[in-house]
Amino acid sequence: MEKKLAELKARLAEVEDLGHASAVLSWDQATYMPPGGAPARGRQMALLSRLAHERATDAALGHLLDDLQPYAESLPYDSDDAALIRVARRNYERDTRIPNALVGELNEHSARSYQAWTAARPANDFAAVRGNLEKTLDLSRRLADCFPGYSHIADPLIDYADEGMKAETVRALFADLRAQMVPLLRQVLDQPTPDDSCLHQNFPEDAQRAFGERVVAQLGYDFSRGRQDKTHHPFMTKFSLGDVRITTRFRPDDLSDGLFSTIHESGHAMYEQGIDPAYEATPLAHGTSAGVHESQSRLWENVVGRSRGFWQHFYPELQAAFPTQLGGVDLETFYRAVNKAMPSVIRTDADQMTYDLHVMIRFDLELAMLEGALEVADLPEAWKMRYLSDIGVCADEECDGVLQDVHWFAGVIGGSFQGYTLGNIMSAQFYSAALRAVPAIPAQIAAGEFGPLHGWLRENIYRHGSKFTANELIAHVCGGPLSIDPYVAYLRDKFA
Ligand code: ZN
Repeated sequence: MEKKLAELKARLAEVEDLGHASAVLSWDQATYMPPGGAPARGRQMALLSRLAHERATDAALGHLLDDLQPYAESLPYDSDDAALIRVARRNYERDTRIPNALVGELNEHSARSYQAWTAARPANDFAAVRGNLEKTLDLSRRLADCFPGYSHIADPLIDYADEGMKAETVRALFADLRAQMVPLLRQVLDQPTPDDSCLHQNFPEDAQRAFGERVVAQLGYDFSRGRQDKTHHPFMTKFSLGDVRITTRFRPDDLSDGLFSTIHESGHAMYEQGIDPAYEATPLAHGTSAGVHESQSRLWENVVGRSRGFWQHFYPELQAAFPTQLGGVDLETFYRAVNKAMPSVIRTDADQMTYDLHVMIRFDLELAMLEGALEVADLPEAWKMRYLSDIGVCADEECDGVLQDVHWFAGVIGGSFQGYTLGNIMSAQFYSAALRAVPAIPAQIAAGEFGPLHGWLRENIYRHGSKFTANELIAHVCGGPLSIDPYVAYLRDKFA
């Protein structure tokens, strides 16, 4: 059995390493690659993903998993070996259901579609990508159909990102959340709008970068196992547990954009850096779901990074970094500025009170397209109507409307948005569990001590990687199922 387990680990390590090599190419593409590198890079990444898929679906891997099944069943559920075999089997069964040809077609199409989107968005030209999007919808349906027996066609696509979730459960959860948030938002908007002009001055990029890096190093992001580079759309990526990178962007006239995206990505990165080193090069060495991953970035970005205590600690240092810009702005004004709630048209710029409404619009439109209730041709109009009815504003141009997010243009339609709001919900639920265990956390944050919260997260969430599913982790850490109550209470406390 030991020999077989070693062989399993060796095979899984190859799949992981191919994925990580591909991640290096993709990180380079998004940071330093000159434009001339694009055609060859696309081909190289397609080759790596084909090789990874071949190895991940090798029949020999399936036989090994079969042979190891009795051993896995003889172990306690939470043993590392049992978890490895369980997760490897789940991945194998999923990957082998998708024909190689469909994987190739999806990869090729999304590269083409992404390329077209990068030109269509600045040109404000939805018609230029409509054909691609129709093809994406067709491919997304075919992908879902590889998993027959679903109750909603989006279920397999949602399950891929957020295992255990279904269209119906997410829909119900979102409906509950919306019913609580909309009246609260109205109440917030009835109050005088905070003045956030202090954030919109001239903030030199070098000083922004230096401050952001000092902040995330204090929170616990380990620069000896990571680094930060510039990109257009910030992301976190991992090449091994010893190399977890973040990217960011800066706007000289908007201090919060670069700062909060640096904190956000460092939250994703601390999760990956905190995984048990014993899981290196196995499928357990990843965050467990899109929602849980986003809960960790949002927890640091919003629950911590937009709290009053956080700025009690960091504001003097920020003022020292930008004395002419912020020397005359008091803490309360700054705190209110970084928490200003205001309906807007761009999801990634949205505040905590409206962000989830942006996500829900996308989630509903995805479902409608997959169901066949909404044609791609009618998407821009449907988008506008939902923005007007749900958020009360709507973009004049498609580049700030239906073309704003990359997701549908670089992947499938279905499954890629619910994780953002699930993450917000979970961020509050995990944080309230942390507070129950360590009531001093808010005082510690105000004193600049982030170690106790970071340590609690590492112990209860990070180190497990993918050993437990999101639902198992929540039950285990929070003592009950996923609930919107802590999130609603948090928003009400803070904003009302
Ligand atoms: Zn994120």
